[in-house]
Amino acid sequence: MRLSKVIKQCLQQIKSELEDQIDVNSFAEDVSKRLDWIQDWLDKSTDYVNMPYKEYLKTAHWIRVSILAKEAANNKCQLCNSTGILHTHHRTYQNLGHEKLGDVIVLCQACHEKFHNMVAEAPNE
Ligand SMILES: [Zn+2]
Ligand SMILES: [Zn+2]
Repeated sequence: MRLSKVIKQCLQQIKSELEDQIDVNSFAEDVSKRLDWIQDWLDKSTDYVNMPYKEYLKTAHWIRVSILAKEAANNKCQLCNSTGILHTHHRTYQNLGHEKLGDVIVLCQACHEKFHNMVAEAPNE
């Protein structure tokens, strides 16, 4: 087994243990920083671009991007301000694995559907 793979497994283990110990909504700052550091490391060592998109949507990385995007949007649809179930939609797939905030848009279910009908692309988050 390659060393990087061993390190990756250790980090994933540490990360899940840290996450078990803390309330996700009230990260102690140092724990949060450590988690961010681990996640950044994992991001760099994971091939997000070549994994199936369905798998990608389940990664801790994407979940984090999605949560940050929703927080930045004040948990409202960025088109109609609805506060229902929100999706994080990729405006571009260019930066998969290291998205900038502008690469995604937070949409409610109805707006998300409209969006996809308009651009007629494969459904995605
Ligand atoms: Zn909407
Ligand atoms: Zn979408």
